[in-house]
Amino acid sequence: MGNQLVWFKKDLRVADHAPLFEAAKAGPCLCLYVFEPDIIHAPDFDSSHAEFIRQSLSDLKQALERRGGALLIQTGRMPDVLDALHQRYGFEALWSHEETGNDLSYARDLRVAGWVKQNGLRWIELPQTGVVRRLKTRDRWAAQWEKRMSSGLMPPPDRIPTIGGLEGSSSIPTLAELGLPPHQKSGMQSGGELAAEETLHSFLTQRGQNYQKAMSSPLTAGEECSRLSPYLTWGNLSVRQVYQATLNQIQSLSTGAKGPDSAQWLRSLRSFNKRLHWHCHFMQKLEDEPAIEFENMNRAFDGLRDPEPNGELLEAWIQGQTGYPLVDACMRALHQQGWINFRMRAMMASFSAYHLWQHWREPAVQLARHFLDFEPGIHYSQFQMQSGVTGINTIRIYSPIKQAKEQDPTGAFIRQFVPELADLPNEFIHEPNTLPPLLALSYGFQPGVHYPAPVVDHMTAYRQAKERIFAWKQQPEVRKLALAVYEKHGSRQQSGQRRGRS
Ligand SMILES: Cc1cc2nc3c(=O)[nH]c(=O)nc-3n(C[C@H](O)[C@H](O)[C@H](O)COP(=O)(O)OP(=O)(O)OC[C@H]3O[C@@H](n4cnc5c(N)ncnc54)[C@H](O)[C@@H]3O)c2cc1C
Repeated sequence: MGNQLVWFKKDLRVADHAPLFEAAKAGPCLCLYVFEPDIIHAPDFDSSHAEFIRQSLSDLKQALERRGGALLIQTGRMPDVLDALHQRYGFEALWSHEETGNDLSYARDLRVAGWVKQNGLRWIELPQTGVVRRLKTRDRWAAQWEKRMSSGLMPPPDRIPTIGGLEGSSSIPTLAELGLPPHQKSGMQSGGELAAEETLHSFLTQRGQNYQKAMSSPLTAGEECSRLSPYLTWGNLSVRQVYQATLNQIQSLSTGAKGPDSAQWLRSLRSFNKRLHWHCHFMQKLEDEPAIEFENMNRAFDGLRDPEPNGELLEAWIQGQTGYPLVDACMRALHQQGWINFRMRAMMASFSAYHLWQHWREPAVQLARHFLDFEPGIHYSQFQMQSGVTGINTIRIYSPIKQAKEQDPTGAFIRQFVPELADLPNEFIHEPNTLPPLLALSYGFQPGVHYPAPVVDHMTAYRQAKERIFAWKQQPEVRKLALAVYEKHGSRQQSGQRRGRS
């Protein structure tokens, strides 16, 4: 039996890992993780991502060693790393999961495919999500997803035979050794398969009961959303593991003795389960059309906004200094924690696209660095959707003031993350610029000095944006291309379209 190389990428786990399982049956394994300089120094990558990967590698290394394996960690360009390893150890097959990543990982995969072919080797790429390679039509996509997600989970291999000549696992490089600055996130989630399993368990058995109601407010979402996104992004868990664990929980709630809370639990878990479909639904868009990382999904929107960002406005937005307290609180929370809930992400993207009238591309890259769960397929599709440039989604322009009053009525979240507003009374916390001068004086607060005046006037910006986007949307070319966008990417589930999710 020849040597097998298992290449770990965004699948840092041993459970439900088909390439590892199959390779361990096929022959002695070399388990490899590679830090690739062009990827880790790209504008969408942050040191917090590297830290999460490092933590995940620590778990992975131990899990492999417990099974007799070892993890080799290298820094270098692909396929140069593979070439050097092949010369040293020789292997007959390369095993990995398929990846729907950014432009850089796509180009890298093409290089690897060329190298594999040139060397007469085999590269066995297996799916790990519901994303279908070379999909012909979206028509039966949901059924394919269901089938894949319901198939049996792969157990971790009992034993991983290691190739001869390998002297144990490598040490995990520090951020400095990787040429990265220290990360700035004091409250970010920890990486690794163990933390992922605990997070899943606590969500399904303790935290998730009010999920459906609690997901929109930044006050409750942090605790009551699943918080599984970074674990899915870096592959500490597979979507299939989460889906099946959720179905099991739904099953036991449906069939067991019904407590007073069962109905609420069931509603929440069903609502959560739908989002696991969305995860892959959005990633499928990038798989089918990699250009949407850079280009409008509906090219008839080209020219609507200047692709060149307004530096001053973008800087105010990314620094949490727009003068809109909830927008700024969300941005600053994101800087600290690397996570914010869906509704607030949508509001932040909408604020940039409509109030600041910025093209989605640069803001999306800037937020990618801050999202610990940055998943290109979801991220770019969502940014385009929230910016109104797909032609197939309902236009939503969030009012940052209305959202603040609804989702953070007493300003508790704002006070936590925008401390310069902490002492203001409830009635002015959402619009501190409206504080009457004498009252402001009594709080020792000077609008525009202690906290910025709004960078744009809400009502003026809102009206202008609404007029511009709806006028543009009327163009026949937009409608014509919208049909093509729907054909290629649209969700075929009716309710999904009504809610603007397609
Ligand atoms: C502008 C914008 C950018 C986004 N970028 C990302 C991103 O880079 N990575 C990412 O994972 N999610 C992204 N999302 C989707 C969503 O906000 C996050 O998945 C969610 O907030 C993660 O928290 P959670 O795991 O607690 O979610 P839960 O609500 O507990 O959902 C469970 C899982 O379902 C999936 N999911 C939930 N909502 C969505 C959605 N609307 N679309 C697709 N999948 C979803 C995620 O995998 C999530 O982990 C983005 C949303 C917006 C509006």
